[in-house]
Amino acid sequence: MKTKSMLALACAVAAAFIAGAALTDNTQPVIKKWTRVIEDKKVEFMTIDGIMVHERDPKKQPFPKVVRPGELCCDKPTPAPSDAIVLFDGTKESFEKNWTDTKDNESKWKFIDGALESVEKAGQIQSIQKFGSCQLHIEWASPAKVKGRDQSRGNSGVFIMGTYEIQVLDSYKVDDDDANQTYPDGQAGAIYGRRKPDWNVCRKPGQWQSYDVIFHRPIFDKDGKVVKRATFTVLHNGVLIQDHYELSGGTGWRGKHSISEYALHADKLPLRMQDHGNPVRFRNIWVRELKD
Ligand code: MG
Repeated sequence: MKTKSMLALACAVAAAFIAGAALTDNTQPVIKKWTRVIEDKKVEFMTIDGIMVHERDPKKQPFPKVVRPGELCCDKPTPAPSDAIVLFDGTKESFEKNWTDTKDNESKWKFIDGALESVEKAGQIQSIQKFGSCQLHIEWASPAKVKGRDQSRGNSGVFIMGTYEIQVLDSYKVDDDDANQTYPDGQAGAIYGRRKPDWNVCRKPGQWQSYDVIFHRPIFDKDGKVVKRATFTVLHNGVLIQDHYELSGGTGWRGKHSISEYALHADKLPLRMQDHGNPVRFRNIWVRELKD
C-alpha cells in the first residue's frame, strides 16, 4: 500500500513536472539563426517558431484576415481621460512643447491641419518626456494619395521606448488580390519583424486610424540580460490584434531575414515616430504611465 502511494505520488510529481515543462516551452519561442554566404556577402537568417523573419510565402506565413472596423470608428479623435499625459492635442503649441528630433533639436516634421506629418529625411521625432510601461493612444493616417508599394507605401512606425516598433503602413485591402503585398510581420499592426497582427483592420489611405497599446517594458539584470520580456497588447481601430504578446527580442531591421536582439537600455525612454520617407500623419497622442 505504501509502495503504491509512493508510486502514485511519484507519477503525480512527474506529471506536474511534464506539464510545467510544456507550459514553459509554450512561452519560449524557438529561435534559430544561421548565416549563408550569398554573392560573397554574409547573409543572416532567422526563424521564430519555424517561420522565417519577413517570410513572404503565404503558405508558410498566411496573411492576417481582414476585419472591417465599425464605420466612422476613428474619424473623430478619442478624448483623453483626465489623468492622461497629452503629448499632442492638435495644436502647434503642444507639438513645440512636447516633441523634438532625436538630437533634441526642433523637429522638421510639418504641422498641418491639426496633425503632425512625417517629412522625408527629417528623421524620427521623439517626445521630450520619457516613458517605460504605459498605455498609449495614438492616431495615424497613411497618405490619401497612394504612392509606392510594399514597405514604401505609407510606412512609418510607433517606437515605444524609442526602440520597439509597432509598424505603421498602408495595409488596406479590399480583397486578397488588391493588397499592398508585403511580409505579414511588417504590415500595419505588426510588432516589426517579430509578430504579425492577428487581423488586418486597416482603414483606407487618408482615413484616421487608432492604436491603443498596453506596453510593459522589459526588465534587465545588471549584466544586461533580459529577466522579464516586454509585453504588448494592441488594439487597431478598436480591434484586438496583439493579445499580451511577449516580445521575443528587438525589432530593428538587420537584413532581409533577420531582426535585432534585446539590448540593455534605460527604464524610461522617449516615444518616437518614424520617418520612412512617406508623409504619414499623426494626431491625438496621449499616454498613461503604468507600473512595471
Ligand atoms: Mg516602419
